[in-house]
Amino acid sequence: MGNYYQKEIETASREEIVKIQNEKIVKQVKHVYENVPYYRNLMDQKGVTPDDIKSIDDIKKLPFLTKDDLREAYPYGLMGTDIKNCVRIQSTSGTTGKRVVAFYTQKDIDMWEECCARAIVAAGGTQEDVVQVCYGYGLFTGGPGLNGGSHKVGCLTLPMSSGNTDRQIQFMMDLSATILCCTPSYAAYIGESLAEKGYKPEDNKLKAGIFGAEPWTEEMRQNIEKSLGIKAYDIYGLTETSGPGVAFECEEQTGMHINEDHFYAEIIDPKTGEVLPEGEKGELVFTSLDKEGFPLLRYRTKDICILSRKKCSCGRTHVKMSKPLGRSDDMMIIRGVNVFPSQIETVLLNEGYTPNYQIEVDRVNNTDTFDIYVEFSAEMFSDKVSDIQIREQNLKAAMRSMLGIGPKIHLVAPKTIARSEGKAVRVIDKRKLH
Ligand code: ADP
Ligand code: ZN
Repeated sequence: MGNYYQKEIETASREEIVKIQNEKIVKQVKHVYENVPYYRNLMDQKGVTPDDIKSIDDIKKLPFLTKDDLREAYPYGLMGTDIKNCVRIQSTSGTTGKRVVAFYTQKDIDMWEECCARAIVAAGGTQEDVVQVCYGYGLFTGGPGLNGGSHKVGCLTLPMSSGNTDRQIQFMMDLSATILCCTPSYAAYIGESLAEKGYKPEDNKLKAGIFGAEPWTEEMRQNIEKSLGIKAYDIYGLTETSGPGVAFECEEQTGMHINEDHFYAEIIDPKTGEVLPEGEKGELVFTSLDKEGFPLLRYRTKDICILSRKKCSCGRTHVKMSKPLGRSDDMMIIRGVNVFPSQIETVLLNEGYTPNYQIEVDRVNNTDTFDIYVEFSAEMFSDKVSDIQIREQNLKAAMRSMLGIGPKIHLVAPKTIARSEGKAVRVIDKRKLH
């Protein structure tokens, strides 16, 4: 068993956690009902009053919030406290439309940074570490969240922000960074750039990486671990609940512990809204149990995953969420078949390709077109057109057996697909533009 940032709460018994949740939810619902007219209306419409919420089990009675509610209530409609009590605004990346803004009191910031500190310690972080944060700083929550967590642990923090990969590498080598924090796609790019500069994985001092903010597969994890010579840990979060650190991976690397003393998680059937039992796959819903500035209750994340209460070897007792399989709005329906980008990534990496790819979907003459552009690696380079064609055919067959439909594969030269410094753009769905 490793170290913990807040041992008592991270390893608390189930009964202790439920007790905390029971106390917090009663208080939080009352507070929201009195201070957030937008949510009070939703409760009134459903005929629920704060008196109906006596324990965490009663949470099922509460109405859901969706991204549409956040857009409708933009910017101040869901605040839980007077604006003068808030000290920070952050905003989503806007991956799926208009950005939403979230407000934080100082207490909210401290709680959020503590969650990130738990993640850093779970990845082996101590005061001895040099943490290089190349998530974007600014409105995006990645940089500020990990930066704050790193301070709380007492690590030496390198606030690099994203971009300028040459400088990232120079600082990483010169200042002996030991923990890297960025999106998995950027970590893969840094690995690729290090190799190009002639560095071997053992030449850097990194021991761990904390990667999140976008979906990534187990295959991608292996690829990054190999290229950087590290252990790669997943971290999950969203602006609506605070930012990264809502859930984080421990040394077991079999899912992310959700910080249950602050965030209550449910899995629902996205079609009916019914709460599903542990172990079933569905949409993740979060309730902030003690946030002040932006206290969302039953917020539907659109992220599809599975919860597990299986005992974890790290000693932490908090429930674990699987890697999100994707967002429910990430799923593409191509010629009637459901396709997730993560399935495509799995096939590509299993077949020995790099994680540099882009998916393009369009509709021509009422039929969906489905193209995947993927770089071949330098080792695969072949001047013979026939070799490339054979590779494309093989990859198409592998895709067909995973997805049920065959995309048109385009093998392109190394470095032709744009690299991402933040969240990677994997899908271009032109059907939405018509
Ligand atoms: P946006 O919705 O605009 O991307 P955020 O920047 O707040 O806003 O991103 C939150 C979303 O990022 C989550 O809802 C989830 O879809 C995705 N995400 C965050 N961390 C992970 C992770 N570790 N694995 C997969 N997806 C993640
Ligand atoms: Zn664990």
